[in-house]
Amino acid sequence: MEAITYEKLEASAKHISPHILETWQPPQAVKMLLEHEPKADKGFVLFAGIEKEYGKPSDEMQFVGEHKAFNLSWLRKHYNKVGNYLHYSHRSKSNNQESIDSIKKYLHGVCDEVEEVLKGDILGGWLDQVFEHTCEKCQQIIVVGKHTLAKTSHIICQNPNCKAEYFAQPEDEGRKVRFTLKVTRFDCAKCKAEIPIENRRLDIGLEFQCPACATKHRIENRQWIYSAEIETNKS
Ligand SMILES: [Zn+2]
Ligand SMILES: [Zn+2]
Repeated sequence: MEAITYEKLEASAKHISPHILETWQPPQAVKMLLEHEPKADKGFVLFAGIEKEYGKPSDEMQFVGEHKAFNLSWLRKHYNKVGNYLHYSHRSKSNNQESIDSIKKYLHGVCDEVEEVLKGDILGGWLDQVFEHTCEKCQQIIVVGKHTLAKTSHIICQNPNCKAEYFAQPEDEGRKVRFTLKVTRFDCAKCKAEIPIENRRLDIGLEFQCPACATKHRIENRQWIYSAEIETNKS
């Protein structure tokens, strides 16, 4: 289960944070893939052909291969259960022949599913349109799937030591995405130079220094400015 899932992840390694490849277990890894693409835990059959006219499916499609995948709910159910059998437990001492037979039967069922998934000839793979942005804070690549962007414009750097926050805005009819680091700009109290501070750091008591003249500042309070709503449909 691990080998198959990681093969799937590695096929998309450049779209995935290295932290995930190093530390995640299959159910979490597949869950993460599902955030990119809702069909990431489903198999697919791939056909390809040359388009005679751009954008119109070819009338001579050739079979390329088939990918079979573990379903997330199946992985969740069996990954830990199989893992538990690898460890010695007090309970295993008292196992009678009947329960050993039922474990054998269970494990054969799991093996059948693993064999079925291995029958696919495209081993790693999932399909999604992704956008990349180099994080301005940690210089790692942030990868966001089109599917995620349809749900939210709030994107967090996938590096767990960074987690910088961005506002992501599709542009050019969805062909590009503009990532804007969520910052608030303050003017230096002495030299008026602009000092950008990440919104997630903003709090009363935060101290920051002007990069131009080194004057130290401290946030003393916060203020929301509001006004009466303009009534537009007055009769
Ligand atoms: Zn980052
Ligand atoms: Zn200054």
